[in-house]
Amino acid sequence: MDREEIERVRAANPIGEVVGRYVELRSSGQRYSGFCPFHADRKSASLVVYPESGRWWCFGACGEGGDVFDFVMKAENVDFPEAVKRLGGGLLSPRKFAPPAPVEERERERPTLSDAHYSLLTTAVEVYHAALLADRRVLGYTSERGLDADTVREYKLGFAQGRLKRYLALRNWSDEMAADMGLVDDKGREWFDGRLIFAEMRGEPSRAVYLVGRQAPGVKGWGPKYLFLEWLRKPLNCQERVAGSREVFLVEGTMDCLLLRQWGYPAVGVLGAHLKREDMVFLKKFTRVYQVPNRDDAGRRLLEECKEALGDRVLTVLVPEGMSDVGDLAMRAPAPARVFKELVDKAE
Ligand SMILES: [Zn+2]
Repeated sequence: MDREEIERVRAANPIGEVVGRYVELRSSGQRYSGFCPFHADRKSASLVVYPESGRWWCFGACGEGGDVFDFVMKAENVDFPEAVKRLGGGLLSPRKFAPPAPVEERERERPTLSDAHYSLLTTAVEVYHAALLADRRVLGYTSERGLDADTVREYKLGFAQGRLKRYLALRNWSDEMAADMGLVDDKGREWFDGRLIFAEMRGEPSRAVYLVGRQAPGVKGWGPKYLFLEWLRKPLNCQERVAGSREVFLVEGTMDCLLLRQWGYPAVGVLGAHLKREDMVFLKKFTRVYQVPNRDDAGRRLLEECKEALGDRVLTVLVPEGMSDVGDLAMRAPAPARVFKELVDKAE
């Protein structure tokens, strides 16, 4: 697919028009805004579309954005070439999101979170973890992705099989608190239902501070590849585990992060393609930052951002041409850990 073709498709598909097919947009001055389809945007219209630059940004839980292709990739859960093909060929299948409920219905104050809330989140991690260990199909999937049994246990990977609410009720946890954490949505549905769960654990004894839900294979259900918790700030995945290291490996996804850790690298995951200011401050403590960018526009932008903020302590580790990220490498290379080691040796 050549540049010219990509630019032709871009020019023929104004960003406002494309996003407007998925989301109810309102014009406000030079831009449009609407409810972000990629997180439970219940409180404010966090999605902003800039027709002039052809870009969009979610100012809510996602904290990320991109161009028209990034939007289609996320909304239709396809890769870049497929997004260009669908957009160019009029092959989009937009699922229009219902316009938001009237203000008084959806108004829900950002909850004040207590220790008990985090205990509940930690309980959810245990429930999800036990469910995964008992589910051979999903375990088979994690192993297919290259995660070994020790990693699954150490990082408390989980599976949301839709029984969390019942479990919490049995243990007398309040629905209200589960909703406060974003584990249950406004309609009482389990937020991560059917997803593979990655937990961010911190402290000693460790407790959960954040969860990410990834689409699980063979489980039906629409949605973006990753779901996050709405009210909580995205942490740097595994940040606490790299304390004391002078080098750090920076990847985007939590799957990539766990794979690198399993192979013995001090890795942290951005959980997206955008670094917050405090993340940059944290990364400045390291003498070397090996960045392993995804091979896409968002990955390139993140790399540029890092180089600008962190200077020449950043070394780039590129996954082989034709592969998108570390997770892809783990599935497709015959001896992925060895291949990755060679890539690290060539980092510059
Ligand atoms: Zn969003």
